[in-house]
Amino acid sequence: MAGKVIPIQQEAEVLEGDHDAVSLMRLAVPITGEVRIKDGRLLDARMRPLRDLRISITDHCNFRCRYCMPKEKFDGRHQFLAHTELLTFEELLRLVRIFIDLGIEKVRLTGGEPLLRKHVEGLIAELKKLVTRTGKPLDVAMTTNGTLLKRLAPALKAAGLDRITVSLDALDEKLFQSINDVGFPASKVLEGIEAAAAAGIAVKVNTVLKRGMNEKEIIPLAERFRGTGIILRFIEYMDAGTANGWRMDDVISSAEAVEIIRRVHPIEPLEANYRGETASRWRYVDGAGEIGFISSVTNAFCRDCTRVRLSVEGSLVMCLFADRGYDLRTMLRGGATDEEIALAIARLWTARTDHYSEIRLSQTNRPRAKVEMQYIGG
Ligand code: SAM
Ligand code: SF4
Ligand code: SF4
Repeated sequence: MAGKVIPIQQEAEVLEGDHDAVSLMRLAVPITGEVRIKDGRLLDARMRPLRDLRISITDHCNFRCRYCMPKEKFDGRHQFLAHTELLTFEELLRLVRIFIDLGIEKVRLTGGEPLLRKHVEGLIAELKKLVTRTGKPLDVAMTTNGTLLKRLAPALKAAGLDRITVSLDALDEKLFQSINDVGFPASKVLEGIEAAAAAGIAVKVNTVLKRGMNEKEIIPLAERFRGTGIILRFIEYMDAGTANGWRMDDVISSAEAVEIIRRVHPIEPLEANYRGETASRWRYVDGAGEIGFISSVTNAFCRDCTRVRLSVEGSLVMCLFADRGYDLRTMLRGGATDEEIALAIARLWTARTDHYSEIRLSQTNRPRAKVEMQYIGG
């Protein structure tokens, strides 16, 4: 059933300028549009509520994962954003408060590598003071490559970080170092994971599977985390950004990964924790805990996608595969009131129709502009 739609008049305009620098067409926020609210929730054009906010806090990374920021493209000549182009922590906090008024309950910090942003623990501490519309403390999580985690885990815990997801694509040292392409050891990421768990942060591990890259690591990774309380999730390799030369043949489907594990360690499916959970949950039959599979390609979850992204330079991006973002930074820095910004976000969410993963296979043969992953996080 359609929600209540409040029409609003005015025209949108395209911003000229630094598109190349951010690989993202930045549009001025529309000053026309409607707002759809039902039972107090803001709904998009496919009746999906706005619930989660993913914020990229830096476009820098100390890895050059071949499927994300390949060296050839992100080399010395690549123009990273100037510090003044990033949203300040004050600007971020102001926006998060506005998003909370619009219904956001969870925030995830990502990047680039979020732990490279100086004093990120200070940002987390401030975010943890915020309360959602239902009176609960804001849920704050982070996705990281784990390189700085051993040192920062106690400060992140003290700041109140609830959950952390650490990316780890292989345990084999030679392979891991060739995937991150900077020779960083897997053993150090494991130390970071242990430090976070020891500090009392709930840890998950994400592994992107790519054919010919790391399928041999499926069993070793499963065995490393079975029985530890740390949930490992395998993610299907996606055609994110424009730099990784994605082909469907490179995707190891969740069904395939489940079969590989099942033959060695029997697993059975579990109920989802909540509607729209991205990972399908499985448990080891012998009681060694849980393991997950994120089928972003073979079983798209756009139907339940309640997530909006804030890019590193303050553009609002409606989908991981969007080719454009809407420039909230200019509003923030140009004297817009909280109400004006909230209205702009509400209009954008109301107009949102994105469901790329459901139509990917009809799209991938067509060259298409997409935002690079480090600007909007994975
Ligand atoms: N640097 C941090 C990290 O690696 O965890 C956070 C940012 S990274 C872009 C977020 C997640 O996106 C990582 O787990 C990464 O493995 C995943 N990712 C990057 N490119 C991907 C792709 N093409 N397909 C699937 N996942 C991808
Ligand atoms: Fe960096 Fe994360 Fe991308 Fe790897 S996946 S290059 S760690 S941003
Ligand atoms: Fe959400 Fe876009 Fe991913 Fe679909 S493709 S789940 S709409 S981010």
